[in-house]
Amino acid sequence: MKHGKKVLALLVCVAMTAVLAVGCGGSSKSALDEIKEKGQLVWGTNAQFPPFESKDGSGNVVGVDADIAKAIADDLGVELVVEDMEFDSLPAALKSGKIDIIGAGYTENEERLQEMDFSNKYFTAEQIVVVKAGNTSITDKESLKGKKIGVQTGTTGDLECASKIEGAEVNRYDSMQLACEDVKNGKLDCVIGDNLTIGFILNKMNGELVKVEGISYDSEEYGFAVVKGETELLDEVNKVIDELVQNGEIDKMVDKYNVGE
Ligand code: GLN
Repeated sequence: MKHGKKVLALLVCVAMTAVLAVGCGGSSKSALDEIKEKGQLVWGTNAQFPPFESKDGSGNVVGVDADIAKAIADDLGVELVVEDMEFDSLPAALKSGKIDIIGAGYTENEERLQEMDFSNKYFTAEQIVVVKAGNTSITDKESLKGKKIGVQTGTTGDLECASKIEGAEVNRYDSMQLACEDVKNGKLDCVIGDNLTIGFILNKMNGELVKVEGISYDSEEYGFAVVKGETELLDEVNKVIDELVQNGEIDKMVDKYNVGE
């Protein structure tokens, strides 16, 4: 009996080791294998960034990135699932496996490259500064010092522009739209953010906000991001993005969605 128990215990141990081994083998599967296995590509974004991603009247996420994500999912033969979350939650969601890919008008920069891999680029953007029409207190970079500046939390406009301005009071928002509204109602001196999205918002504000022409920043480029080292998935994404860039589809998508309401 005693001996029987030992054998049983040994068998349990062997079984557990086998389960663990399979488990470990499972986690060594590539992101691409996992996506194909579950039949879904989970795209993480922040749907407050037209014309790249925003919600239509029925709550669907639409825009340039939505079309690119769909093209990637179609190419892989899987369903596209959208995870709409706060912009600055995207890196952690990617790392934890909650999402497979980030597509969010997402600028490649040094800090992000430490944490994730970026696809080939599909859009060139720049940061612009916007004030209330008639505000002449901001004309150049020097005049941004000490000002109340609105940004979207964790964006390049926040981390690489506003946060580096001496004495500036940086006010962080969940969306550019909210920041722009606070420029309009006088709570902020200006906002700094990506040109196309701010331009989209400005178009709806009937000239109440205007771009400061005397300030420019280096251009930046958008790509999709995947977990570091997931080269198979990255190759797939690059294949689809390169094709959409080369056949002019990206330009068409930008024209299609950059029209306001
Ligand atoms: N391009 C900017 C960035 O990557 C802003 C993107 C966004 O707000 N969705 O930080």
